[in-house]
Amino acid sequence: MRSYMPALYGNAQAKDSLGHAVENNTLPHAIIIEGPRGSGKKTLARQIVASQLCENRTNASMPLPCCRCRACNLVLHDNAVDVMRISRGEKSTLGVDAVREAKQDMFLSSTEFDYKFYIFEDAHTMTVQAQNALLIVLEEPPPQVKIILLCESADALLTTVRSRARLIRMNRFSFEEIEEWLGEHKPLDIARYRQKNDVLRAILTEADGCIGAALALMDPKAEEEFLKERQTADLLLRAMASRSFTELCSAFSHLPTKRDELINSLTFFLRALRDLILAKRTNDFPLCYFTSTEDAVQNSRSFRISTLLHASEDTESAIRQLERNANTATVLNVLKCALKNG
Ligand SMILES: [Zn+2]
Repeated sequence: MRSYMPALYGNAQAKDSLGHAVENNTLPHAIIIEGPRGSGKKTLARQIVASQLCENRTNASMPLPCCRCRACNLVLHDNAVDVMRISRGEKSTLGVDAVREAKQDMFLSSTEFDYKFYIFEDAHTMTVQAQNALLIVLEEPPPQVKIILLCESADALLTTVRSRARLIRMNRFSFEEIEEWLGEHKPLDIARYRQKNDVLRAILTEADGCIGAALALMDPKAEEEFLKERQTADLLLRAMASRSFTELCSAFSHLPTKRDELINSLTFFLRALRDLILAKRTNDFPLCYFTSTEDAVQNSRSFRISTLLHASEDTESAIRQLERNANTATVLNVLKCALKNG
C-alpha cells in the first residue's frame, strides 16, 4: 500500500484520507488543522502541499509526497513561490490587513505550479474582521487556490469559517509512543536522559502528547528554565504543606519578578494544584504536572481538599490580575496571605 505523508509521525487516518483526496483530485479548497503547539500542524501542512504539487503524485509505486522531485524539494524547504505563509509576526492577533493582502494575491495567477497555497498560521488569533474578510474566498475561492488554517483551537474560529473547511485534528501521543519516536529519530538526545528519567517524564507530561513540544523542551536552555519553574512550584507546594509562613515567604522569594515569567510560574503551580485536587477525587485522570499518578496521590495526602480548592482559586485570581496589569508585588502579597490562611 502507498505510504502517505511519511514525514509526519502517527495521524494515520488524516494522512490516508488526505493522501487519497490528493490522488483523486478532491483535496478540499480549505482545511483547518487543529492541535496544540508542537503537535505537527506545520509539518502536516507542508506534507499536504508537497503531496498536491508532487510531480510523482500519480505514481502509486512511490510515497506521496515523493520527497525527491523538484516540487517536493521546493515545498519541503519552504522555497516555493506559490506557497504563501501568513503569520501575525510579533503581533498578538492576525489582523484584517494581512488577510486582505493574501486575498488580493489569490486572484493573481500562479507562477510555478498548478495550485497556489495559503497557509494561515495561528489562525485562532484571527480577529473577527479578518475572519469575515477571509469568508468571501472561503465561500467562493479562485479555482487554483487552496487555503490551510493552522490553529490551536478551532472553537476560536467563526462557525461560518469552520463550516466551509475540512477540520483535521492532530493526534496526541502516549509517553511510550513519543519515547519510541525519540529513540528512533533522536537517539543521542534520548541517551542524555538515561540517567535522569524523571526529567524526561516531566518533559513528556508538559509536552502533553506533542512531539514538537517535547523536542522544544529538550533544548538544554529551555530544559533548564522549565526545571527551574517546576522547582519553584515544588517549593510552593512544600511550603503550603508545612503550614509555616516563614517557609511560604522563602518559597515566594524564588518567584520571578517579571510579569510574564511570574504568570508562567504561577500557571505551573496551578497545574500542580489541579493534579492534587483530582488525585483526591479519582484514581484515573490525565496528569498535567506530576509525572505519575502515585506521585500526585502521595503528595495530595499532605493537604485537605478545601485547602487545595482555595489555593487553586486564589492562584487563578492572581494570574488573572497579573494579566490585567495589576501591580505584581501587591498581587503576590495578597496571594501569600491567602495561601497562609487557606
Ligand atoms: Zn515529489
